[in-house]
Amino acid sequence: MNKGALALLNVYGGDSSDEEVPGPRVSTKREFRHDSDDASKPSKLPVPREFMDTSVDAENIDNPALHGGRVRSFRHVRGNWATFVYVPVEARAGIDELVSYAESITPPDFGVQRAYDYHISLTKTVILKHHWIKPFVDAIKTTFVGFNKFVVFFDEVRVYSNEEKTRTFLGLQTNSGHDSLVSIVHVLDRCLAEFNLPPFYEDPSFHLSVAWCVGDRERDFAHYLPRINAHLAELKTARSQDNWYILVDRLVCKIGNKMFEFHVK
Ligand code: AMP
Repeated sequence: MNKGALALLNVYGGDSSDEEVPGPRVSTKREFRHDSDDASKPSKLPVPREFMDTSVDAENIDNPALHGGRVRSFRHVRGNWATFVYVPVEARAGIDELVSYAESITPPDFGVQRAYDYHISLTKTVILKHHWIKPFVDAIKTTFVGFNKFVVFFDEVRVYSNEEKTRTFLGLQTNSGHDSLVSIVHVLDRCLAEFNLPPFYEDPSFHLSVAWCVGDRERDFAHYLPRINAHLAELKTARSQDNWYILVDRLVCKIGNKMFEFHVK
């Protein structure tokens, strides 16, 4: 029974306008140049900036030292906005304890780091052109009708790596909410397709990344997984159930530094 609906409410973080987009505004006014050197030449309309400016932004070339050695998947290119949709998840003491345990049993050279921006991804990180931002957000808004709130439980720890194999993640996988999350992903995949953007994984494994390290450490971590999962099972009996599930009642679409929030009504 679909009595709830996901509707765009506002921009996350108190900004009430969903029209606003990040970055410098591009003037759409036509400018006729008066060329005093050669007044006989006809004036030309300027090419809009978003169509011509694809140069790498020199001030934003990736510096891994600034973010714990992480390697970005995308170089910053002017006019391109890294975009993804996710379920936000608040911090939990039980998960903190689990990560502390993982840190304590893995060798220091793994360089395990805690994840702070807890989320369950529903799209890959895709690149949106500046002028697609509003239509993309509108497409999500209009397509999300008739979704109910639902609960997902964190079932077990798994190891993931990104497609470039530059980072390895410890993730709490959710099997219980899988079907509901898959139906949201199908809706999002259709929106992405309208903009020629790639869909999420064909065989998605929804998870909350709780820690990560640089490089391809999937096999190294696999060795420690049984102990980490045994510890998770102990924590699940010792700590409140609130640590191990979330109510999915909103989604966030992050575009550059801007966040658009969608709520289940
Ligand atoms: P996230 O914390 O959502 O960024 O996910 C961590 C990494 O898991 C991402 O870089 C994904 O590419 C990776 N990943 C690998 N396989 C999958 C899968 N089947 N479903 C979802 N994410 C995956």
